[in-house]
Amino acid sequence: MSFELSNMTWIEARERFGASKLAIVPIGSTEQHGHHLGVGADWIQAWEIARRVGERTGVTVLPVMPYGVSGHHKEFPGTITLTPETLQEVIFEILESLDRYGVERVVFMNGHGGNTGALTGAIKEAREDFGMLCAICHWWDILLKKDLWGHPAEEHAGYAETSFMLASRPEAVRMERAVLSPTKQVDPEIQLVRAGLARFRDGVVRIPLSTADVSETGSMTEAHPDDVPGTSDYSMITLEFSEALMEEVVEWMCAFVAEFEGFEVTPLMSKG
Ligand SMILES: [Zn+2]
Repeated sequence: MSFELSNMTWIEARERFGASKLAIVPIGSTEQHGHHLGVGADWIQAWEIARRVGERTGVTVLPVMPYGVSGHHKEFPGTITLTPETLQEVIFEILESLDRYGVERVVFMNGHGGNTGALTGAIKEAREDFGMLCAICHWWDILLKKDLWGHPAEEHAGYAETSFMLASRPEAVRMERAVLSPTKQVDPEIQLVRAGLARFRDGVVRIPLSTADVSETGSMTEAHPDDVPGTSDYSMITLEFSEALMEEVVEWMCAFVAEFEGFEVTPLMSKG
């Protein structure tokens, strides 16, 4: 039987949900990814990672949610955004549906940081209402310690994302146009680190801005120019490197999913 819910009949789905109480929900966004990646980048990567994990572990994978909270990218054509309230409602109702069939643990493979608030809200509601436990996995968190030629993995349309796209859907990559923009600076004292974070003297301050405020191309280093190499060179991003990087994330996810299936929390104030 396929691990993809979409390919199961309802009889097979009933069987599957009876056998395992865990499911994976991939979610991303449809938003600009610089000059060289298709706007589906975030959902394409989330789907591909979830698909590989499902294939390897047999865990049920739901259809990918291709829209997310992307209002901060809306100046760039092709970006389709939901409000956080809408996304939270959609996610909660997906969890409510899964609860109906006995699913107790859900692992989100979230390809877009802007979704985190809405996901967290829906997850809290689901725990409160029917005791479901959920985890949010971000590939950039999994690769937190990875140093990609001086760049962090989380860059928007940076080395890691470009690699995942090459490994998932090369037809959505225009490698010859790849360029990574350093965070634009507008003030000598208030130094922009990324769209939501700035440095002032020895402290940092949160200034919510749009991507268009800090980047000309839509790609972003998500770091202060002093902290990352100034030039971007994508020539190291080969198919071989891309596959190996994706493999690191998939392997981590497979191990996490297996562990999370047995994850229990005893509430401090539990009744009885
Ligand atoms: Zn992305």
